[in-house]
Amino acid sequence: MTQDQATRQGCRQVETGDCVTCPHCGGAGKSLAFWDGEATHGGAELACPTCNGTGEVSLEHARRIAEGWKRRQDRLARGLTLAEEARRLGITPAALSRIERGRAL
Ligand SMILES: [Zn+2]
Repeated sequence: MTQDQATRQGCRQVETGDCVTCPHCGGAGKSLAFWDGEATHGGAELACPTCNGTGEVSLEHARRIAEGWKRRQDRLARGLTLAEEARRLGITPAALSRIERGRAL
């Protein structure tokens, strides 16, 4: 891949074309709305934490995000808090939070 492509996309899969629009920010690259009510209001425009402001993520990353979201919905449907579910799974709440956001395998 050329330096130009790498700079433009910021997506690790750019050479294979496996890039999809970031499901978190919708390709805007800015985090104006968070999934779980952590939105920052007041004019601050932060780079999207999911795609690091590139507006695109790899297909693999998008798949993890979708699975994490499903996992979170399933947990909420069972009425469990992040801490309760983490204890049940034997992992830390921080680790579960990352999984639900698609940031960790
Ligand atoms: Zn994004």
